[in-house]
Amino acid sequence: MAEGNLSGMQRMLRRHTSPELFAAMQRESRLWKTECPHCQTDTTDIWEIGGVRYKALGEPRNRIRCPRCNQNRWMRVHWTGGDPNALGPRPSVTPLVIKIVLITLLIPLAIVGAVLFFVLR
Ligand SMILES: [Zn+2]
Repeated sequence: MAEGNLSGMQRMLRRHTSPELFAAMQRESRLWKTECPHCQTDTTDIWEIGGVRYKALGEPRNRIRCPRCNQNRWMRVHWTGGDPNALGPRPSVTPLVIKIVLITLLIPLAIVGAVLFFVLR
């Protein structure tokens, strides 16, 4: 997929992950296919529609626009990659999770703290 076609979530991941982890996420997301209950098309991968699934389990149903019948459907998301252990190295997401927690939690807290510090001084 071309750079400009990345979804917001994919761009965010690219900014905050190593190239190895981002490549692994893209590779794995492309092995998660969505099956439309209406037209049975089963060729769309999660990455193609802007999603990311990495080290995930189960077969969730997500409300996704089917590219063939062009309607929002409860698409069954399922793994088509076989044995995940055969995919080779799968970089850990722990540094990314820590980074996201820091960004979404600690930075706003720090800003609030700084504002209170100057207001209450
Ligand atoms: Zn469909």
